Amino acid sequence: MRELERISTKLAKFRPSLTLELKSLAAEREERGLPVYDFGLGETKGELAPHIREAGIRAYREGQTMYGDPAGLIELRRSVLEWLGLQDRYGPENVVITAGAKQSLLNIFLSVCNPADTVLFDAAPWVSYQPLAIAAYASPIMVLPRAGELNRLKVSPADLKRNLKMRPHARLFLLNSPVNPTGQLYSADEVEALLQVCVEHGIFFVLDRLYWRIVFEGRTYPEPRVDDETRPWLIQVDGISKNFRRTGGLRIGWSVAPVDVTRAMVNLQSHYTSGPAVPTQYSALAAITEPYDEELCRALQGKRDLLRKEAEALAYVEVWPTPASFYSFWDVRGVFGKRAPDGRLLESSSDVAEYLVQAAGVVTGPGTAFMQDGYLRVSFATPDDQIVAGVRAAATALEQLS
Ligand code: PLP
Repeated sequence: MRELERISTKLAKFRPSLTLELKSLAAEREERGLPVYDFGLGETKGELAPHIREAGIRAYREGQTMYGDPAGLIELRRSVLEWLGLQDRYGPENVVITAGAKQSLLNIFLSVCNPADTVLFDAAPWVSYQPLAIAAYASPIMVLPRAGELNRLKVSPADLKRNLKMRPHARLFLLNSPVNPTGQLYSADEVEALLQVCVEHGIFFVLDRLYWRIVFEGRTYPEPRVDDETRPWLIQVDGISKNFRRTGGLRIGWSVAPVDVTRAMVNLQSHYTSGPAVPTQYSALAAITEPYDEELCRALQGKRDLLRKEAEALAYVEVWPTPASFYSFWDVRGVFGKRAPDGRLLESSSDVAEYLVQAAGVVTGPGTAFMQDGYLRVSFATPDDQIVAGVRAAATALEQLS
């Protein structure tokens, strides 16, 4: 039997992420003693807050290591509602604690989609949405906004309606705001209008709000309307991976959803994970019950401004404004058609990303990974000196194109 046939057709088609390939090119440079500037990161650096660490250690010391409730610790589920300001609108029976936000997403797809149902994503979907939907036997479809980059790739209600007309089997629309990779934030009116379309069409509106505390210029996160009309269709996904330092590996996320959907997810989870690790749930509980430390958001805003200033020197590149998240989105279509000093023609964002790694040691996320060739995702959750030196190295590499 050939290797491919030993693996299911579905999973055999999964590709490792492009960023991993770039990382191996970067490692080759490092071996040669050349500098590398990593803008591919999807998490913040720094110290884990002592109260988060101590809560995990205490849980181990006190033997909190037996099976827990598959829905997650009841105290954590209650605290999740307070963290989201939803304690008056939902109860713990609406919350499932999961192994990262990723598992919440897979739970949702598996719980509400029948085979071949359509799930609609926004125009630059985060890399794992599609594999997760496919793993759940659903068909992922990207909603392409008519306004395109004029509205920074944000989906409008008219875009969503147009797609719903074409796809009667749509079960849900997944909105990610703040958006990874574009760094955009949907306003309260934009969220409301999209939610309204979903309610009218009787499809789920799934809001992935994983970066919701990282909104700049003192903005507050535009909350979706939660009332009797929206509650049956609204599902929110969140977690601790992005809004705190060094917490991605704790693997805790959650969903807040209608009771029937939550029940289905808990049932599923009871069979395949029995809920996430209990000690890390205690760490998550400590993280979200302390008053939120805005230090991370302030530091990231400073990095965003630094990167923006340095990036003014980049030839052929337009840098989008970043109202939220820690990703700068670069329009690199101006580079297409140019030649590298070795004569290689740069024709896609993967070519540009590869060139920047090989010529300057600058690691970015090519837009092809997010179904938007023409752009690079640049994470600025990296030390200031790396931002300055890395953007300068990229500027020098771009100047060498002809
Ligand atoms: N949703 C978005 C938009 C993300 O960027 C990520 C992680 O990068 C996830 C979900 C998954 O988060 P977690 O690491 O908590 O599983």
